[in-house]
Amino acid sequence: MLELFNYVDGARKPAQSGRWLEVWEPATGQVYGRAPQSDEADLAMALESAQYALPAWRDLPASERARWLNRVANLVERDLEEFACAESRDTGKPVALARTLDIPRAISNLRFFAAAATQFASESHAMECGAINYTLRQPHGVVATISPWNLPLYLLTWKIAPALATGNCVIAKPSEITPLTACLFAERCIEAQLPAGVLNILHGQGAQIGQALVAHPAVRAISFTGGTATGQRIAATAAPHFKRLSLELGGKNASMVFADCDFEAAVAGTVRSAFANQGEICLCGSRVLVEQSIYARFRDAFVARVRALRVGDPRDASTDLGALVSAAHRAKVINAIHRASADGGRILCGGGLTQVASTACRDGWFVQPTVIENLPPTSAANQEEIFGPVATLLPFEGETEALAIANGTPYGLAASVWSRDIARCHRIAARLECGVVWVNSWMLRDLRTPLGGMKNSGTGREGGYEAMRFFTEPRNVCVSY
Ligand code: NAD
Repeated sequence: MLELFNYVDGARKPAQSGRWLEVWEPATGQVYGRAPQSDEADLAMALESAQYALPAWRDLPASERARWLNRVANLVERDLEEFACAESRDTGKPVALARTLDIPRAISNLRFFAAAATQFASESHAMECGAINYTLRQPHGVVATISPWNLPLYLLTWKIAPALATGNCVIAKPSEITPLTACLFAERCIEAQLPAGVLNILHGQGAQIGQALVAHPAVRAISFTGGTATGQRIAATAAPHFKRLSLELGGKNASMVFADCDFEAAVAGTVRSAFANQGEICLCGSRVLVEQSIYARFRDAFVARVRALRVGDPRDASTDLGALVSAAHRAKVINAIHRASADGGRILCGGGLTQVASTACRDGWFVQPTVIENLPPTSAANQEEIFGPVATLLPFEGETEALAIANGTPYGLAASVWSRDIARCHRIAARLECGVVWVNSWMLRDLRTPLGGMKNSGTGREGGYEAMRFFTEPRNVCVSY
């Protein structure tokens, strides 16, 4: 049994209560470790440490803070394989994906915001009357980051890196479902001798330590990624304190495929977009909208490609889809498939649980990649986030209908448009109600660009200077000369 720990005041700590949470391995369905079940007492200790560390960290030259981030990034890169195996074990995702996506991106996050720290500049406004305004951007102080289980280290570092780069001290709460790589990350921070208290990592349940973090008046900003219902709860708790809030929530993203697309690229791109990471990415294109004139041909090619996806042991290099993250999540996905079927959906492939060849994975939480058609845009499967390997196909006639379907959910996170008519792509991009649009691509990420959603997909943007601004308080100084 692996014993994980909190990272508080620069050291490994169990929960002060001595209580633990079980940690499960999705591919085997077995418990493999335990993580601290933190509460207010652990928060008090982390806060004291962060507040003590704050003045020195805030006053360091930005280039020094950048050096610390780079030092930790170098250690994660040195141990990339260990991190990738751990991420795969904890989430059920293929190790090949963790090796090529999750961990390299975590390293890039640290390096990107290290560089941003040294490049960040603020505004200045000259007045005709002989005065100049300049904007100071100062860290908030102690801030919280709360992250989900689907991209654990990737999203943890995406938040803590800009927070630290701008001079805040951080209390991070990873998902209780996937605490492992955050724990390894803490070990590298200890090895790098990151000053104590600058970063603290508390494990435990959302309703307990997460809620306590959000409610504590000394925590001045909260960067949250997770489900929409949790985001609503966090917003309600934080609002009376006027805390800075960034909420990256769920999505029900549309891939829009027009008859004039590059057919093969669109099939490959939309299958990847729907099923990457078992469909457990907020940006996944789970609704595939296809122009009527190519619908039948596209559907057949799409389904053939999905049937060829290999569900298997995440450690196996040939595996395309691993296990879903938890038994509870698997049940939620299976229920959504049953509901879709009851609503009149035609299941074109998949539709249920699957057993994989490896005997070690006999009790793992695997679901067949599933494609469903014949459901109206208003059905539950086309409105509610399933967050699993399930895609629906919807035919449309023309741009107006495509846009109405794409925009016709409470969410507004991302969309992709597949067409060779670039004027059409620009037109549609301007009218989509979401924060991110990809044209003839998906998940092509430049870390300088704003990332986030509108409507029920959240408020605020992460990435680049958006994140640097979020983690700083602007103060205008007006000097008359
Ligand atoms: P979740 O909302 O259940 O949990 C996310 C985090 O919030 C966890 O660390 C959890 O412990 C914590 N939490 C739960 N209740 C809390 C509370 N009351 N107060 C404070 N913290 C609390 O989400 P999840 O199931 O871990 O992740 C899946 C969801 O995340 C999906 O809806 C997905 O779309 C979304 N997501 C969004 C993005 C994005 O960038 N928009 C990225 C990844 C995942």
